Amino acid sequence: MTYRIQEVEFIKSSTDHTQCPGASLPEYAFVGRSNVGKSSLINLITERKNLAKTSGEPGRTRLINHFLIDHSWYLVDLPGYGYAKVSKAERNKFRFLIEQYLLHRESLVCLFVLIDSRHRPRENDLDFIRWLGHQHIPFALCFTKTDKISNITQSKNFSVYRNTLLQEWESLPPVFFTSVTRKTGREEILEFINTTNKNIMIK
Ligand code: GDP
Repeated sequence: MTYRIQEVEFIKSSTDHTQCPGASLPEYAFVGRSNVGKSSLINLITERKNLAKTSGEPGRTRLINHFLIDHSWYLVDLPGYGYAKVSKAERNKFRFLIEQYLLHRESLVCLFVLIDSRHRPRENDLDFIRWLGHQHIPFALCFTKTDKISNITQSKNFSVYRNTLLQEWESLPPVFFTSVTRKTGREEILEFINTTNKNIMIK
């Protein structure tokens, strides 16, 4: 089944969680280090060329951006973290902004944590994932740029995350593998979002 998104509406950019739109619809947020491929993935999912701004452009990339999808759910583009170009104090500010949003946003259904599948897991990404678990924030892992690595490297890198998670929890979160150049992963992500939304409506 191919998911078509009919309407994507940019609602607003917020400086913090208190400024976000009313929490009346299910919300799915995307987060990751700058350059992980977040904007490209959001553009792929929504089939819009320049919806999410790439990290080369400051401005929106530092804010919480709400997009209304087909009048029924919000896609949220969170600021990229770990910018090499900004100071440590600034990086901590982003981290705080993201954490406050995650802790307080009641309508958040799932956070997609984007990870560049080319890199071996970094300790602070693992720390962030552990923190999500401890805070009971529902999340999914999304491994990006899979076209750039072999299947062997992909499964090797993934197993580090899997083992880390299984040390502390009994089950794994949903996991997605995406490639913007191959246009893979989009269907699975939208299937997950649509199924989850239907279940929310039934409840
Ligand atoms: P962001 O900073 O996380 O928003 O990352 P961008 O979406 O701006 O992507 C960073 C760079 O990675 C850009 O040069 C993209 O063209 C490239 N990129 C993103 N996703 C993919 C992918 O799936 N495959 C490949 N080969 N390149 C990608």
